[in-house]
Amino acid sequence: MRILVIEDERKVAEFVARGLRDQRFAVDVVNDGQAGWEMASTCNYDLVILDLMLPGLNGLEILKRIRRRGSQVPVLVLTARAETAEKVANFEAGADDYLTKPFAFDELLVRVKALLRRGSPERASLVRIGDLEIDRQKQQARRAGKRIELTPKEYSLLEYLAAHAGRVISRTMIIEHVWDESFQGLTNIVDVYVRHLRSKVDDPHPIKLIRTVRGVGYSISDEGET
Ligand code: CA
Repeated sequence: MRILVIEDERKVAEFVARGLRDQRFAVDVVNDGQAGWEMASTCNYDLVILDLMLPGLNGLEILKRIRRRGSQVPVLVLTARAETAEKVANFEAGADDYLTKPFAFDELLVRVKALLRRGSPERASLVRIGDLEIDRQKQQARRAGKRIELTPKEYSLLEYLAAHAGRVISRTMIIEHVWDESFQGLTNIVDVYVRHLRSKVDDPHPIKLIRTVRGVGYSISDEGET
């Protein structure tokens, strides 16, 4: 899950980003409106956290532009202003939720999780693929009832593949959703991580769930190969 934070108060931006990264989200931060709009319009985010008062381009204008291009990405608006009129304008422009500063991180997290669930109704907390079970609440995976020890990145990769089970996912899609903008390497990092994931998820079992689609990417499904 990749989140864009557009917030010019660096302390707030860092506080939000740090907390979300601890929760295993991939987070990009920008501190001005113009850059924020550019990021929002060029990358494929799962959620945008948007401050209203921004240098360059204000939050309301960014929100309108996001919706004008037809994007349904959930947008959580942050603001110091609590006036009702402002709130109405933001909801009308397409904000999904609203948080008035200052806020506790836990409050933000509850809203972020709720918006991400709303964005994808199929997002069940327990995902089963054959004898593989992924518990999104606990961020744990089991196969044949046995716990698989995964690093945070391996877990995120597995969860992302599993959320699109049966579909072929390209390396670029994986990079966009599992890594964040600070990642400057090559897409073959994905191959390295998939190899690690396979050694843990598939190697000990006769049926292989993770499949390579040559020249395209990867797919996970219970119609695996033996
Ligand atoms: Ca601001």
